[in-house]
Amino acid sequence: SLYAKFLRKFAEHHGMTRIEGKIADVLQHDDSGNIKALKLENGELVEGDLFIDCTGFRALLIEQTLNTGFEDWSHWLPCDSAIAVQTEAIQQPIPYTRSIAHQSGWQWRIPLQTRTGNGLVFCSKYISDADATELLLNNIEGAPINQPRVIKFKTGTRRQHWNKNCVAVGLSSGFLEPLESTSIHMIQRSIVRLLQLFPAHGIIQADVDEFNQQTKIEMDNIRDFIILHYKVTDREDSRFWRYCKNMPIPASLQHRIDMFSQSGKVYKYGNELFGESSWIQVMMGQGLMPKEYHPIVDLMEPAELQSFLNNIKATVKRKVDTLPAHNDFVQHYCKSTAM
Ligand SMILES: Cc1cc2nc3c(=O)[nH]c(=O)nc-3n(C[C@H](O)[C@H](O)[C@H](O)COP(=O)(O)OP(=O)(O)OC[C@H]3O[C@@H](n4cnc5c(N)ncnc54)[C@H](O)[C@@H]3O)c2cc1C
Repeated sequence: SLYAKFLRKFAEHHGMTRIEGKIADVLQHDDSGNIKALKLENGELVEGDLFIDCTGFRALLIEQTLNTGFEDWSHWLPCDSAIAVQTEAIQQPIPYTRSIAHQSGWQWRIPLQTRTGNGLVFCSKYISDADATELLLNNIEGAPINQPRVIKFKTGTRRQHWNKNCVAVGLSSGFLEPLESTSIHMIQRSIVRLLQLFPAHGIIQADVDEFNQQTKIEMDNIRDFIILHYKVTDREDSRFWRYCKNMPIPASLQHRIDMFSQSGKVYKYGNELFGESSWIQVMMGQGLMPKEYHPIVDLMEPAELQSFLNNIKATVKRKVDTLPAHNDFVQHYCKSTAM
């Protein structure tokens, strides 16, 4: 919410005009099919050359008007529902979000300065909304401060993120479940990408193709990283986890798993969000250990390796000793005005 407010203020300061209203109809040019104008409920017509679809899951322009098409990824990421509830903060916030696996999904616990955000992401095929709500409420700390709210979603991506004169940003462009909290990052990336390829002198197909290609690569990589969390589980204690363990996965992810499980090799491709250390943490964290290692490793004597690791440890300790505690930092730099 604060980020949205910040962006609005920033944009208005730079000359943007905000028009409040509900879009009742989207008008298209007869010849090209390009979007011509938005008709608001009060009858006002908003014409434009380029339209950015920010209508969330409704995808009013990119899908309902332009029928761009949706690639469904729910066979790889079967969670399709979330319940969110906020609770009173009962202790000083710890400096990280917890993701806790459950029988048919996972729970988030996000400590803020004034409250804790909680939620359960789950697959409705294996647990009902009512049972999921009960499960979440039994696993929170502190009294709830709002009613639990169920949100339904479908994981997948728009077949094109820029189609004709419409660019989809945010949930209208697709959705990856929030296990790695990537949506707002992807919004930011889309904004930067659109600025870089901005059609100042008219829309050029090469720019559209580049935008779509870059967005696709970025989403595919994040998708694979999230699927990895589920796929390499050794849990077999529920139908949900058995499905995840045995489901087919994208060839691109299978390749990464094969590379790592054979010889511990991990690569980061281009601008992808998650680096080698993230991939290694999830693979090893979930119990996937490489069978072999690169022979070059044997060129280093154990004593030399030990000294190298000790050095890293000492450097980290020296740095950490100079840093303020999490809460001191927060209080100093970004104390909540709601406190
Ligand atoms: C369960 C869940 C957990 C999430 N967790 C994270 C997270 O941890 N980190 C993260 O980065 N992201 C997360 N996200 C995603 C994040 O919420 C979205 O990326 C963010 O809200 C941006 O969405 P948006 O602006 O695209 O759509 P929305 O926030 O849905 O906004 C769409 C807007 O369009 C408006 N609209 C729709 N139709 C019309 C119309 N006809 N006329 C006028 N206006 C219209 C709506 O009123 C709404 O204001 C999560 C999402 C879900 C569902």
